[in-house]
Amino acid sequence: MTTTAPITQPTPRFELDAYQALSEDVLIHRISQVRERMGSELIILGHHYQRDEVIQQSDLRGDSYKLSKIAAENDACRAIVFCGVHFMAETADILANQPDNLQRRDGQRVKVILPDLAAGCSMADMAAIEQVESAWNELAEVTDTAEMTPITYVNSAASLKAFCGRHGGIVCTSSNAESVLRWAFQQRDRVLFFPDQHLGRNTALRMGITNQQMPVWDPFADDLGGLDEGAIRDSKVILWNGNCSVHQVFQPEHVHQFRKQIPGIQVVVHPECCQQVNDLADESGSTGKIIETIQHAPAGSKWAIGTEWHLVNRLKQQHPDLEIHFLAPIVCMCSTMYRIDLPHLCWSLENLAAGTPVNVIHVDAETAKWSLIALQRMLDVS
Ligand code: SF4
Repeated sequence: MTTTAPITQPTPRFELDAYQALSEDVLIHRISQVRERMGSELIILGHHYQRDEVIQQSDLRGDSYKLSKIAAENDACRAIVFCGVHFMAETADILANQPDNLQRRDGQRVKVILPDLAAGCSMADMAAIEQVESAWNELAEVTDTAEMTPITYVNSAASLKAFCGRHGGIVCTSSNAESVLRWAFQQRDRVLFFPDQHLGRNTALRMGITNQQMPVWDPFADDLGGLDEGAIRDSKVILWNGNCSVHQVFQPEHVHQFRKQIPGIQVVVHPECCQQVNDLADESGSTGKIIETIQHAPAGSKWAIGTEWHLVNRLKQQHPDLEIHFLAPIVCMCSTMYRIDLPHLCWSLENLAAGTPVNVIHVDAETAKWSLIALQRMLDVS
């Protein structure tokens, strides 16, 4: 969780502790009072994986990139409260405060707030900028890095997006990863893909790249990411050894079990799940694609869904005409996103309205500039 510019934040007018004891009704009432007071200047964003009581308070719900983009394009917006995780708030800050937008607002910044700074992402944390830079330097000893494109999944710190911007690289989302990889191979011979190995592998396999051409770089290995020089030279995509703690829970035996117990069941999973699960599933796609698949499913059809628990539950409630199951036998949710609850939301909103904003995410100008270049390349491709 680096790259947040050191900004001076005023002492909060209200302390968090006082909110923990308030009832849900009181918190909801006070949240709605702030919304009334701030009107269209305030946008509350809720990621699909967010808990229900928080998502009900959001103006927009969706995946991280879509939410940031819509909020950034809103002319009236002066403050974004992002009920997601840290990298999402960074992306919102980069997009909302890009030079064109700042100019349109006479230099006035949109404040981006993450209600709980401890809401990080375990996957994003698996690739620190120092590790990526060191991997890049090590790879340069074996291969020509001028012939290698770095691609970062949007689920990464802004420093990694900036790294890609500086090195002719690009950002991808789970819905455009294939177009981005194709673009990368039009530019150069090889790709370094981080931080999620599964999205990289599942996407590249669909394009005909083999597992032998996709060695996995271990940032904790003593030398060359634990790879031999030949494996690097023969590679098409070097995958970073990172994953999502939520999606890695889904296993092939879960798919087998459902197929055995419920004949005719269809399985839809996120590409952050491992290759074996993706191979066994009927459908694989981004959160948006999963939602769309369920929305268009014929009444009476049966589904096992391999993605975050809150989203699956919500789909279940919204589609009582379908039989929907969570693909794993245990509850796996995004526990860091879960840290954002009504007390944190109310606390951050009331401080914002009082002029003492807390947890402001402000990506430093240099990082934001290069991140934007990598994000813009993605927009040009998809
Ligand atoms: S679901 Fe996984 S990738 Fe998404 S924010 Fe949570 S830990 Fe990160």
